Amino acid sequence: MSNPVDNIPYGKHSVDDDDVAAVVDVLQNHFLTQGSIVPQFEKALATYTGAKYATAVNSATSGLHVACLTLGVGQGDRVWTSPISFVASANCALYCGASIDFVDIDSDTRNISIAALERKLAIANKANLLPKVIVVVHFSGLSCQMQEIAALCQQYNVRIIEDAAHGLGGRYQHHKIGSCEYADLAVLSFHPVKSITSAEGGAVMTNNEVLFERSKLFAKHGVTRDPNQMQGLSDGPWYYQQVELGYNYRLSDLHAALGLSQLNKLDGFIEKRQILAQRYHDLLKHLPITLPSMENADTSAWHVYMVELKAHNRSVIYDALIERGIGVNVHYIPIHLQPYFKKLGFSEGDFPNAENYYQNALTLPLFPSLTADEQDRVVQALNEVLA
Ligand SMILES: *Cc1c(COP(=O)(O)O)cnc(C)c1O
Repeated sequence: MSNPVDNIPYGKHSVDDDDVAAVVDVLQNHFLTQGSIVPQFEKALATYTGAKYATAVNSATSGLHVACLTLGVGQGDRVWTSPISFVASANCALYCGASIDFVDIDSDTRNISIAALERKLAIANKANLLPKVIVVVHFSGLSCQMQEIAALCQQYNVRIIEDAAHGLGGRYQHHKIGSCEYADLAVLSFHPVKSITSAEGGAVMTNNEVLFERSKLFAKHGVTRDPNQMQGLSDGPWYYQQVELGYNYRLSDLHAALGLSQLNKLDGFIEKRQILAQRYHDLLKHLPITLPSMENADTSAWHVYMVELKAHNRSVIYDALIERGIGVNVHYIPIHLQPYFKKLGFSEGDFPNAENYYQNALTLPLFPSLTADEQDRVVQALNEVLA
């Protein structure tokens, strides 16, 4: 067995002295929560993405819940998402009492298939079963075809939430992912394996002031101090009102300080991911595996680099790589095949492209501080086990 010190993880945060100093500064000199750093972080996220408004939250999972509540998702509503995502993309609908369904993926991009979406919308329209909201996922940091999705959704009056947990730092056309150019709301994640980290954290982005005010409300207990949002008159300067059933999904200033400091380095992180992805592409081309398409590679945030085995058993190769200290992973097990979702009525065969992808998928290590030597070790190990 290899020495655990030598193990190369599949993803890893990069935290340096600036980040540490930013957090220590909050501990020594500022409010730990509800201070000035969260608003600074929100402003910086809006500036970076080009969206008008940001609400920082304590995770993207909370952010997706808030985004659904903000669009009025509730009992009797339908929400659609991609089966190839983390379970949070679907759970947000269930938290609101809505039902969930999926749109199969495109086998090349692994994002929602535009053709499948078009077909499913037409059928749902005839049956009077259109979704209220679609949660699109920019899988691996590669943007979905937002213009096409927005055109279809407009035709059927479906609202759009971008699960942009993989996408921060990536682009679509000349817009940054998270700009909400083609969506009502976009949700970012700052979990340590994502583009930047605040340890735990996320944000809800929008260009719509009404949606912004509502997302803030749902993230903060449904409580407001703004007389304009109150029923009747304010009792005085101390007064607040609860006007919705909200949650405590606030991000702390401690977390925001880390996120704000990390945001300065985001473009550098993405550049490193893009260089490493191109290098994987060049070094792995000869192997019997399907590599991610390099079309639009310079726009992807490269959250993960996933390959599909063509001629090998995935579990054998997975074990052989782990044994060599290569921290491979699998993104994702199709959500509809999770026991909880099978109980809701989904079964094998429902989304064949997603299921076929999952059968052979393998995620290779990719993170900004991955060195060329480490990457060469990953390539060498793949050469050995696929020989
Ligand atoms: C990580 C992730 C989430 C959840 O993010 P958290 O900040 O950990 O709650 C949601 N969706 C996708 C696609 C993710 O990768």
